[in-house]
Amino acid sequence: MSAASETFLREAAEKAADGELREIVRKGVEHYDAAVRRGRARFLDWEAARERCREIKREAIDRLDLYLEEFERRVKERGGQVFWAETAEDASRYVADLAARAGVRSVVKSKSMVSEEIRLNVALESRGIKVWETDLGEFIVQLREEPPFHIVTPAMHLTRSQIADLFREKLGGVATDDPGELTAIARRELRRAFFSAEMGVTGANFLVADLGAIAITTNEGNARLCSSLPRIHVAIAGIEKVIPRAEDLATLWPVLATAGTGQPITCYNTLIAGPRTASEPDGPEEFHVVLLDNGRSRLLADPEQREVLRCIRCGACLNACPVFRTIGGHAYGAIYSGPIGSVLTPHLRGLGEFQHLSFASSLCGACAEVCPVKIDLPLHLLQNRRNAVAAGLRPTRERAGFGLWQWAAASGWRFGVVGWAARAAAKMAQKTGLAGTVLDPARSWTKRREMPEIPAQSFRALWRKKHGAG
Ligand code: SF4
Repeated sequence: MSAASETFLREAAEKAADGELREIVRKGVEHYDAAVRRGRARFLDWEAARERCREIKREAIDRLDLYLEEFERRVKERGGQVFWAETAEDASRYVADLAARAGVRSVVKSKSMVSEEIRLNVALESRGIKVWETDLGEFIVQLREEPPFHIVTPAMHLTRSQIADLFREKLGGVATDDPGELTAIARRELRRAFFSAEMGVTGANFLVADLGAIAITTNEGNARLCSSLPRIHVAIAGIEKVIPRAEDLATLWPVLATAGTGQPITCYNTLIAGPRTASEPDGPEEFHVVLLDNGRSRLLADPEQREVLRCIRCGACLNACPVFRTIGGHAYGAIYSGPIGSVLTPHLRGLGEFQHLSFASSLCGACAEVCPVKIDLPLHLLQNRRNAVAAGLRPTRERAGFGLWQWAAASGWRFGVVGWAARAAAKMAQKTGLAGTVLDPARSWTKRREMPEIPAQSFRALWRKKHGAG
């Protein structure tokens, strides 16, 4: 068992037993579900919009090289710079070197999961550069020194009184737990940071090839400030974020907003196409785009799973997932949690360490039903499981169990004998009180669940009695 897998099992058990956390997540998801129901009803045809998004992203992924080159060419034509980062380290080193060369002392960042993926804050802070997360949720989790809980709502796991306590401890003099006042306090802190930072870092929801522009969508307007006030703007995005045309945003933006939060459209939608020109009074002097691969090309080369690159990071599959709802985002031990994280992380960080995540699913299919770009997430979870088994990464006991099952299920009489032995063992465990103890071979199941009463007769015996055949 990998270290990541052991940590996951321990954390998942702890979080699942944390009633308070589960209640907070339940309430958050309930609000989200109601908002999304209303949001979808605003579309003339939600299913047609999903289908269109799938087609746009499929076209982009199928011709990724072409669209990325077009995007790069147009960014450069407007005076921007493009850096192709093969690994997370290449990307964070590029940004940290750039900041060091330009004498940057503080950086303001808008929410970017890719910047989490490349551990940008660590790279910058190791050079003595102060980093300010300016999305309110990210600001809160940064103060708590923890990663985002959810890819869209990073502080979803916290109550307002917990946030008030945090602000009191870290910012001082906070005598309120009113959400509006807490937001105003954060705003005051961040205003100072915006005006003093020399570099702004943002993600990009989309890279628009025919414009050579990045498209960013936020509810707080912080990405606009990050990208316009400091003298250097760096946008970091996975290569899969490219889309062919500006007109595609007419579908993608409202669908992303609705699937992400239930809004008809997110409050601030911005297109940025380069540094400040001679005729513009403000904006950054330098504009850099970091295009991150970090395993995505491998995924692109995999005909079975390349559709995973269609993901627009709306977070809908996390909210729909009963496992995420039970254990939350931190237990996954990965930047991307929930169903998309369980599919993606083994590709980004290695099957050997993270194959267990694909087994943390009931395969109920709720994620695929809500995904706005129609990614067949349960299928990809199954493919990851198959790959893990083929690579010999599953525990010996599990492999032996399935080997026995395969051997028994291939023959009627063997199935009967194994079934009889299993029933006898289960009855014995119940009779002797071994069930749930360390001596119980099914302990990983029974330590938290009641073993159901074993019926007096097996299904086979009942069938024979009723139909007269085995
Ligand atoms: S897989 Fe689909 S539902 Fe999940 S985050 Fe990506 S786009 Fe949203």
